[in-house]
Amino acid sequence: MKIGVLALQGAFREHVYSLEALDAHAVPVRLPDQLDDLAGLIIPGGESTAIAKLMDSYGFHAPILRRHEEGMAIWGTCAGAILVARTVVDGVADQSTLGLMDIEVRRNAFGRQVDSFEVDVSFDDFDRPFRGIFIRAPWIESVGPGVEVLAEHEGKVVAAREGRLLATAFHPELTGDPRIHRYFMERVVGASPA
Ligand code: GLN
Repeated sequence: MKIGVLALQGAFREHVYSLEALDAHAVPVRLPDQLDDLAGLIIPGGESTAIAKLMDSYGFHAPILRRHEEGMAIWGTCAGAILVARTVVDGVADQSTLGLMDIEVRRNAFGRQVDSFEVDVSFDDFDRPFRGIFIRAPWIESVGPGVEVLAEHEGKVVAAREGRLLATAFHPELTGDPRIHRYFMERVVGASPA
C-alpha cells in the first residue's frame, strides 16, 4: 500500500518513519505527479499558511482534489487538518484550504507555542488512551452531519473522520505509537474504493 506524505514543509519525515515502521510503502511527495498511484496522502503539521503557499506554487490543489475524487484517502494532522477543512476560523485573511472535509477548524485555538502540551485522549474504540501532542494546535469547532467525532479534549473535537478523510489536531507521528497510522491505513485508506 503506497502512502504519500506531502513533503513541502513541517513534520513530514516523522510521518514517513511512522509509516515505514508499519511496513507501508511511504513516499515523500514533492511534486503533484507523485500523487498518481497513491492510496492515501498525509498532509503533515507545520505552518498551514506556508504549506498552502507552497501547494499553490507547485500546483497541488487541483490534483489533490482530483485524486481524492478518484479514491485517494487524505489525513491532515494539525496544520494539515486546517488544510483539509471546509472553513477556517481565525485564519489569516486569504488562507486557502482544500475545502474537502465538512469541518470548521479554529487555528491556534489552544493558545500559542508556549501553550503546547501533551495529554491522553480517548480515540474511537482504542482500548487505552492515545498520547496527544498538541503544538499550537487547532481544534475542530463544528462538524457537519456526515462527520464522525473520534476524539475530544475538554469538550473540543480533536479528531474526526468523514469517509476517506481523517483530521487530527495533534501529532501522532511524534509519539512512536502506531495506532492512528494503522487506523488510517486499515480503516480510512482500506475503506476506499481505489
Ligand atoms: N498553528 C499552526 C497553523 O496554524 C499549526 C501548528 C502545527 O501544525 N503544529 O498552521
